[in-house]
Amino acid sequence: MLAHAIAKLFTDFVICGMTLTNILADVNLAQLPRDLDVLEVFTVAKSVASAAEESGYRSDVFDYLNEDQHDVTGPKGFQQALALIMRVREGGLLVLAPECKTFSFACMAVTGRNRFCYGGDTTKPFVQKGNALARTAWMFFLVGVARGLHVCLENPSGSMLFSFLQSYVNRLSDGLQSLWPLTPRPTDLQSSSAVDPQLQAAFLADRPDMKVFYVDRCAYEDKRPTFKKKYKFLCSSQWFSAAVRTCSCSNGFHEKLMTEVVREDGTVSKTGTSHLTSSGFYPKALGLAIVQAWKQHCEAPPAARQTRLLPFDRDPKQMMLQTLGEILKTLGPLLLGQAEKPSKRSIGSVLQVLGSKF
Ligand SMILES: [Zn+2]
Repeated sequence: MLAHAIAKLFTDFVICGMTLTNILADVNLAQLPRDLDVLEVFTVAKSVASAAEESGYRSDVFDYLNEDQHDVTGPKGFQQALALIMRVREGGLLVLAPECKTFSFACMAVTGRNRFCYGGDTTKPFVQKGNALARTAWMFFLVGVARGLHVCLENPSGSMLFSFLQSYVNRLSDGLQSLWPLTPRPTDLQSSSAVDPQLQAAFLADRPDMKVFYVDRCAYEDKRPTFKKKYKFLCSSQWFSAAVRTCSCSNGFHEKLMTEVVREDGTVSKTGTSHLTSSGFYPKALGLAIVQAWKQHCEAPPAARQTRLLPFDRDPKQMMLQTLGEILKTLGPLLLGQAEKPSKRSIGSVLQVLGSKF
């Protein structure tokens, strides 16, 4: 029922000619054995998969840089990755960490991505490719949730990938919330004699529900000093929470990930240091912590796993400030006398902002 409900939310979302409904109904994919516990997609470091293997789980990895594995933005790589995802057993772990480069703030000048247009300048092939990769990763997330896996999608905290995907994330989050009345609430469980409370509680405990967690890389690194890097994990439930750790550097000193050079005209040029590439690789300890968090969650009694159902990432204060910001942007020039009188267009855009928010 859950898989069908999620697929219904995304009938217009198509990757390599397939919707989620097509993927779930695909005969070849459906007949694959569900023989994997853990799958790490978009990785060459294999931190999570190796930790899983060391803990006795059956794991696999996928990345176009690995032998015989292709780019997921093409049909061959997409089908290969999909086949592996379909092989993960119910309750298994799926870690997705797509390349973040075209979504980073450091590349804004080249990609044309900004808060008014997270999709960037789509006339440029590498921007198109970045967008295709993000959308494909989102399809993998949906397949994972629909198949009952514990999923996380990771990028650096400042990556615009999450903003680019926000409307899809909201759609899934809202959809999952709306399913709530269809399932018994914990309070109903006590009064209902028709259902086995333990079974129902177990079902409710593993209901997917979008959650966001942050991890400071330095908290998982022994070497000091090290660089500062914050990872953001968008997760299919609260399973990830035990892996959260924040900066533990005693003096707060970090090595630089970017160097700044002031040009003759006063502008600043930023270049990544040699640490920048390796900062994308999870330290071994983080890989292990992710596997343990998942294991701990799956083994916890149902009551401990229940999550509060809150809409994803919608801080009311932040939404209000954002709305005010958008209104002031239109009204500001009028108030400062930089525009002579309110044009129909400027009034229209204020009303549009108000209308869309309240
Ligand atoms: Zn630190």
